[in-house]
Amino acid sequence: MGKNITDYTVEDIVQFIKGNIDALLLVDAQTDTYKTVIKRGMFTDFIDEEGSYKDLIEKLWFHFNGTFDKITEDYQVFIPTYGKFSGKYSRRLKLDSNGELHAVQMTIYPVEENYYLIIFDELDNSEYMKDFLTNEKVTTIQNTYLFSMYVDLVKDSTSSISITEISDETVHSELKYTDWRMMIVNMIWPDDQPMFLERTDPEYLKKNLLPGRTSSFDCLMQNLEGKFIWVKLIFSRAETVNADEDFRYVFMVQDIHEDSVQLMSTLKKYEELASKDTLTDVFNHGRIDTEIRNAIEIVGRTDRHISIMMFDIDFFKNINDKFGHAVGDITLKHFVYLIREYFKDKNAVIGRWGGEEFVAVCYDADESQAEKYAEEIRVKISEAEFEVAGTVTTSAGLTEIRKDDNFDNAFERMDKALYKAKSEGRNCVRVGK
Ligand code: GH3
Ligand code: MG
Ligand code: MG
Repeated sequence: MGKNITDYTVEDIVQFIKGNIDALLLVDAQTDTYKTVIKRGMFTDFIDEEGSYKDLIEKLWFHFNGTFDKITEDYQVFIPTYGKFSGKYSRRLKLDSNGELHAVQMTIYPVEENYYLIIFDELDNSEYMKDFLTNEKVTTIQNTYLFSMYVDLVKDSTSSISITEISDETVHSELKYTDWRMMIVNMIWPDDQPMFLERTDPEYLKKNLLPGRTSSFDCLMQNLEGKFIWVKLIFSRAETVNADEDFRYVFMVQDIHEDSVQLMSTLKKYEELASKDTLTDVFNHGRIDTEIRNAIEIVGRTDRHISIMMFDIDFFKNINDKFGHAVGDITLKHFVYLIREYFKDKNAVIGRWGGEEFVAVCYDADESQAEKYAEEIRVKISEAEFEVAGTVTTSAGLTEIRKDDNFDNAFERMDKALYKAKSEGRNCVRVGK
């Protein structure tokens, strides 16, 4: 039966290899071609007899969540750096063949320059697959770091790059830092590109990043799917002995998209809360005050017509006294609702000045236009049926902002006009001249 090991010839070993290796390929990286010598099992379909080496690398390494969806074009510039080997290299891959995941051991032997021998062996499954699946969780955490790499600015080198989303190992690359920087900039959101170029400039980094220090900034960057996400770019300079001559740092790209989006929506919510009146849901005093000031500034430097008006409910105290504060509140809400409805299709901003006084800043409305608005609102209010309170009326004072106005002037004219409306019988509109 068994031969003595001394009896084995090279031919025997070759026979053995032929019978046991799942795939063997010969690559010429220079001409971007590969030739398949052996293939069986899953590789029967997975690898062609001959083909492009770049396509093969993309298929093997830039696999994307287990699918073969193409990665976005900008990232494909990295493919050649992934296909270069100067020494023996081995790694485990997770390959998707016809919707099934396979664990594969890949070994690469450089035969001579740009010629490689690639051997694939499918790993017997269950054990490794379990490993892979548990690894999945760890990978998810690692995935928040889209890139990490070492940079040596003196040598202008990037000694290793890892794109964790597509590969979980560091890859030795012969990419120059200065080239890499120009490759990456295409993935940054156009508006953020000047900042990226400034902050990654070798001279800038040498000057501003002290040994042992870390700096970072956030920007929008394309992920592998081509979607722009929020990332944090982190530069951490190594603590080296000869700080003057030695400049090495770690560069990392962290995915902060979900947190950022969450944070921004929270901020927006707070901003809204901080500028809104809780009872009536229109702008609060501070916010409408700002709106008036902005309007005055706009009129000062443009030819736009902007008017401001103030509504004050007539005898509102009586409503509180007669029906109680709760009915007073409901009346206020209904009152504001009617004003908002009126301004719905107009360029106006409404706020609660205080109590039962409301201000509207009406853009592109001169005095007569504003007077028409105020009058129509007055009529609309007086004709409305208020729950419990029944009929409610309002007085209004308004003025068009003038070029030489400051806040006090403009506000006083409006305020005096309102006072006039009150003293001249209420349920009417007066214009401040
Ligand atoms: P006038 O026609 O002169 O404006 O008479 P008025 O009674 O409306 O004027 P006044 O300013 O004396 O009364 C305003 C009242 O509005 C006083 C205050 O109790 C009431 N008020 C202010 N804020 C609120 C609120 O948020 N809810 C309720 N229910 N009442 C409020
Ligand atoms: Mg009042
Ligand atoms: Mg009032």
